[in-house]
Amino acid sequence: EHLRSNPNFEFIHHDITTFIDIKGDLDYILHFASPASPIDYLKIPIQTLKVGAMGTHNCLGLAKAKGARILVASTSEVYGDPLVHPQTEEYWGNVNPVGPRGVYDEAKRYMESITMAYHTFHHVETRIIRIFNTYGPRMRLNDGRALPAFIGQALRGEDMTVFGDGSQTRSFCYVDDLVEGIYRLLLSDYPHPVNIGNPDEITIKEFGEEIIKLTGTSQKLISLPLPTDDPKQRKPDITKAKSILGWEPKVSRAEGLKITYEYFKSLSPEDLHRMAHHKEF
Ligand code: UDP
Repeated sequence: EHLRSNPNFEFIHHDITTFIDIKGDLDYILHFASPASPIDYLKIPIQTLKVGAMGTHNCLGLAKAKGARILVASTSEVYGDPLVHPQTEEYWGNVNPVGPRGVYDEAKRYMESITMAYHTFHHVETRIIRIFNTYGPRMRLNDGRALPAFIGQALRGEDMTVFGDGSQTRSFCYVDDLVEGIYRLLLSDYPHPVNIGNPDEITIKEFGEEIIKLTGTSQKLISLPLPTDDPKQRKPDITKAKSILGWEPKVSRAEGLKITYEYFKSLSPEDLHRMAHHKEF
């Protein structure tokens, strides 16, 4: 919305699982099309597979036709429920192809595979970023992920829903750090996958407790069943990002959570209601 008035910005609404026709020259393509939240991609599993597979194929075809460089958004989910910790780019992962998360994980793994093939066989300039858990202002409050769920619950005075016993870990990266990592990778000459994420690992239970402290609420943590194949641990090894891109996260979780909470707190009750009930799919 904030870009609509920019004369250098044009919005084209198009389904990339069909042929993409863009007039004129293209320098860069950044392919981020996909739902990324487990509850979202479980609502539209086939579309998730199609956008990662056919959508990526069309974007790569467009890059080849235009001589453009393309960056594709992969994910820490390619590591599945990882048996190597922290996750290095060399680790091949532990993914259940027929489990509920398989529709996202395998689409992204196929994305990486076809992207490397276009690099190798068609000499397209390709970049693959593996994005770990990211958060910040303007997330959808009802997108089902831990941070918007917890902050939404804090604002509504509801108990916080921790899935399982909350001992599973994640490592949360503030959005501005991620954007800087994407930009640096795009401008680099490195065609292999690069992890971008914040290695500061925390259990989901501790994360909930941090948000209770931050919001000053007197909520309780309540336990709900752990979703099938929910990864038990996740933490990026960012040695490559550091050495190849000179990148590392700058925003601590304390700082990032504060900015994010201030943003949600500043919204009107109408906006909050709309964001909590918005139907994306
Ligand atoms: N989670 C939770 N309560 C919620 C939402 C998520 O305990 O209301 C847990 C979820 O089971 C997972 C972690 O928080 O272990 C991160 O979940 P999220 O959906 O944010 O992303 P994921 O890393 O699983 O893709």
